[in-house]
This record gives sequence, C-alpha cells and structure tokens, in this order.
Amino acid sequence: MELSLSQALLEWYRRHQRPLPWRQRSDPYAVWVAEIMLQQTRVETVIPYFVRWMERFPDVNSLAQASEEEVLRLWEGLGYYQRARNLWRAAQRIVQEHGGKLPSRLNDLRHLPGIGDYTAAAIAAFAFGQDEVALDGNLERVLTRLFDQPLPAGSAKTRRALKALARQHLPAGQAAEYNQALMDLGAIICLPLSPRCEVCPVETFCLARAHGTVSERPLPRAGRAIPLRFQFIAIVTAGEKVLLHRRPGRGLLGGLWEFPSLFIESEEAVQTAPSVFAQEYGLHLELRSPLGRLSHAYTHFRLQAEAWHCDLLAPAPPNFTWVERVELSQYPMGKVARQIARRLIAQQPTDFERL
Ligand code: SF4
Repeated sequence: MELSLSQALLEWYRRHQRPLPWRQRSDPYAVWVAEIMLQQTRVETVIPYFVRWMERFPDVNSLAQASEEEVLRLWEGLGYYQRARNLWRAAQRIVQEHGGKLPSRLNDLRHLPGIGDYTAAAIAAFAFGQDEVALDGNLERVLTRLFDQPLPAGSAKTRRALKALARQHLPAGQAAEYNQALMDLGAIICLPLSPRCEVCPVETFCLARAHGTVSERPLPRAGRAIPLRFQFIAIVTAGEKVLLHRRPGRGLLGGLWEFPSLFIESEEAVQTAPSVFAQEYGLHLELRSPLGRLSHAYTHFRLQAEAWHCDLLAPAPPNFTWVERVELSQYPMGKVARQIARRLIAQQPTDFERL
C-alpha cells in the first residue's frame, strides 16, 4: 500500500524526531514557555534556559508570583526581553482570569500578552491536540518547496496559502505530530541552503524536487539594508561603586539595567557625548580614558559601542543608581552591558571581544 504524504512524514518522524526536553512534557504551560523561548532563537540555545526555567518556575502560579527582576535575570542572554516580561504578565492574567490554567481556545490564547497567531496555533496543536497548523519561517520554507509555491517568505498572502495547503494534508487528531514532523524536516533535512533531498522521506511528494525549483523556493523577500548605529557608554565609578541606569519597561532591552549610554551620530561624536548627557539627562560627565569598543547585532541594526571611563562633575540625578561593582551580576542586563560588567567585576576593563 502506498503511503500518503502525511503518513510518510509521520513514519519518518517517529523514528528520527529530535529528543527535545519540552516534547517530554505535554502540559500546556511547558509548551507555551518553549514556544516563546524558541521565537527567533536556536533550539540548542533554548534547551538549558528551558530546563533552568522549568526548575525555577514549574507552573503558571510560580511564574505569576515571581518578581520581574528575577524573571529577567533568568532570561538574561536569551535576548528579546519583551518575551520574558510578556510571559510573566500573561501568567498573572492566567491566574486571575483562567484559574491558573492556560485556556485552550485560540481566541483566548491570542488575547494573552506575547501570544500571536503562531504561538496560539502551536499551543492549540501541541498541548490541546487541535487540528491547527503552526506556521513559522521554517515551515514556510518546507511547504513552499513541498508544494512548489512561487511565493516570497514572510508575506501574509504566503502564510494564508501555505496554511491552507498544510491543512489539506493534516491527519485529523494528529496535529501535534504532524506539525513537529514538518518542523524537524525543516531543521534536519529540508535545510535553507543545502536541502538533503536524496534522504528526504517525502521526496516523492515534493513538487519543487520534481520541477527542479528547490533552490528557488521560497522566493527571496525584498531586501533591506541593516543600518549601523553608534552608542556611547559611560563607565562612572566611585570607589567600589558603579553608576547604572534602568531602561524603560518598553522597547529595546526594556526593563534591563545598563551603564549610562546614548546613541551618537558617529564614532567621532564621542567628544560631544558629555554635553548631550548634561542636556538630556542632567548627568554631568567628563571623559577620562577609553575603555574599549564593542559590537553587537540586533534584529534591526548593528551596534558599535564606544565605552569610556568618565568622571562625574556633579551628583547624579535620582534616576541613576549606584551599585557595588561585585554585585553587578545580580542586575539583569543585555549582552553589551553584561560584557562590560564582567570585565569590571574581574577588573580587566579592556580588550573587549566582538560580541
Ligand atoms: S525533497 Fe528536498 S526540497 Fe523537497 S521537502 Fe525534501 S528536502 Fe525539501
């Protein structure tokens, strides 16, 4: 008897699935945490964070009762910190509005902070067994190839068309395995640059393979240049204390701690940074000596940061905080600030590596 596309896929998945820690737990909370952590982040990076998180916050209630500070500290290094704050806020809403249990209806899920269409569909399929397709970039690539769709990645039209095609082949009641099989196919076999068609379990069903168009699927999305932005970072110390500032709750690195910093026009504009600090923040500084240069790539821009030791000419305004140098590790920070903090704690404040 000839297998259907979904049968061939599921048979392969049962033999080759990746043993991921969140797949060993089917409770909706674990599925939700894993899906949020996996957004824009590699599986290998997520695994230790997921394990640590589930040890510290094993259920919705323990997360809802934690402080924002502790949640951010546990998340530190995983990036996109809004995800952590949304998990924490959503946990509180789930306790207040759903008795501490994740709702199963797509609409209720979508109303929780940080849960969009993809995550709602993933929770519905993986945790509640509903016949939903959780379409992410990985699945888009696999499906545009399987069904040879000349569509660009990432557009709403592409997502609608691919979801409809994937639903046609979804075996009723097996959405969890079906979605995970497609995800693993994309992660192990149908790779972005060099798909391993010769060992693919669904090669005989693949229209792009049959038409010789694999390398053209998906169509590239319209390109955009990633801008380079410059930042000035002031390292201000008084004895064993270091001056820190907490970022606003929303936006880039929201709620994390940082050394006083501001964006500047170019690396040459370092000399003008103290006057901008004085005007915009009431922080009166004088440049003392350069500490090092750091670079980091965010989603929407690349950052080049110039860190300088600075002297304080007048008391710092109240929205800046003095912190013991050896206690810097207790304050949640982004990657650039953490790199500086580590050097300050180790008292090796030069020779930064590229982040
Ligand atoms: S045959 Fe090749 S392109 Fe088609 S699904 Fe398999 S790996 Fe991807």
